[in-house]
Amino acid sequence: MKHKRVKIQISGIVQGVGFRPFVFRLAREKRLKGYVCNTSQGVEIEVVGGKVEVERFIQEITTRKPPLARIVDFKVFSLPSLSYSDFTIRESISNSDRSVLISADIAVCDDCLRELFDKDDRRYLYPFINCTNCGPRYTIIKDIPYDREKTTMQPFTMCKPCAAEYHNPSDRRFHAQPNACPQCGPHLTLHNGEGLPLPCANPIQECINLLRQGKIVAIKGIGGFHLAVDATNNFAVALLRERKHREEKPFALMSYSLQEIERYAFITPAERIHLVSKERPIVLLKKKGDSEISPAVAPRSRHWGVMLPYTPLHYLITRGNFLALVMTSGNLKEEPIAIDNEEAIGRLKGIADYFLVHNRAIYLRSDDSVLKVVGDRPLMIRRSRGYVPVPLFLKREGKEVLACGGELKNTVCLTKGCFAFLSQHIGDLENLQTLDFFEYTINHLKKILEINPKI
Ligand SMILES: [Zn+2]
Ligand SMILES: [Zn+2]
Repeated sequence: MKHKRVKIQISGIVQGVGFRPFVFRLAREKRLKGYVCNTSQGVEIEVVGGKVEVERFIQEITTRKPPLARIVDFKVFSLPSLSYSDFTIRESISNSDRSVLISADIAVCDDCLRELFDKDDRRYLYPFINCTNCGPRYTIIKDIPYDREKTTMQPFTMCKPCAAEYHNPSDRRFHAQPNACPQCGPHLTLHNGEGLPLPCANPIQECINLLRQGKIVAIKGIGGFHLAVDATNNFAVALLRERKHREEKPFALMSYSLQEIERYAFITPAERIHLVSKERPIVLLKKKGDSEISPAVAPRSRHWGVMLPYTPLHYLITRGNFLALVMTSGNLKEEPIAIDNEEAIGRLKGIADYFLVHNRAIYLRSDDSVLKVVGDRPLMIRRSRGYVPVPLFLKREGKEVLACGGELKNTVCLTKGCFAFLSQHIGDLENLQTLDFFEYTINHLKKILEINPKI
């Protein structure tokens, strides 16, 4: 049998997305030996084995890669033969030129959802379930490389079963940085309109009861707070509008599944693809006549802005309980979305009757993304959560540039090599808070992407 040894260097979104365990399993499957490790540029692999197997291995890395991985550059070098006793995952090699891409925040995956609703699972109904294929990323990362110590999960020490998953290369949670369970992870608490904690055994059930009674609940999510009300309750929707000083701008809706959405909106095949995508944007859908949704949700518009749940908590709240919830950004007109518990309670006091909060900090705020399908193509109205900071790919490499955008509905853009990194939606630069957020975002992106703009 002919032998072959190669080194493979891959760059792109290949860290924090289950790439090394995938390579590990693929190498074992093909009976290859060698190693895989993270580097500052991405992932490095060395394999030795039968020529045919090595070639298949190279091919299948791209065809079978994990769902969140994006390969930007793929280099293969032939090397003189050398023997390894096994295939292993090695410690990271770090050097100064850091150019790893960071994943966006991704909707909870089907495997995690199955566990969420499985009575025998140790994470049954746990609202912070996640794995390497899903969960928060960009909004919890303080710095790179993407390790738990550099995320807002740092204060939570993993329990034994969680740590075992985290260290097991064949586990779906191998190196899943936000890995957690009810024993060791974040928890929810319910607070009244003044921010005082309300002791209760089941904050989620209590939140559902309050929403059913027509109350306004501020709910902490991935990139900020939402203000939620039952979308079929005219009185509650009108009250939210009045308290938010938002006379006509449409509110976004969230429904448990496509089935519920079809009761009040038309969904084309192209719209369906975006609704269920892992980015989970708000998609503008044509209204159906005489639905149960309160007309005050989007007066004078022919469309509803609708999204499917994207966190386990959203699933737990909407499941079997509501046709749709209004889920609008927790902010006052033109201010950035609130993220910090104290800050949110301070700013949303007087709007929200109750607060459902958790103790996993949001490091960076990020609003829901909004798109409209025109023809069969998506038109991005607001590119934010789910898409940021995945770059756009430029045709040519250029200087590192910072572009600051306009005063209204601001976003910023930084470029490096052939990547253009657009920031999340920042807002109208009319007040000090938004201006602070604008500067904060630029500095944070410069840090995590290691960009020093020349222009
Ligand atoms: Zn998952
Ligand atoms: Zn645990």
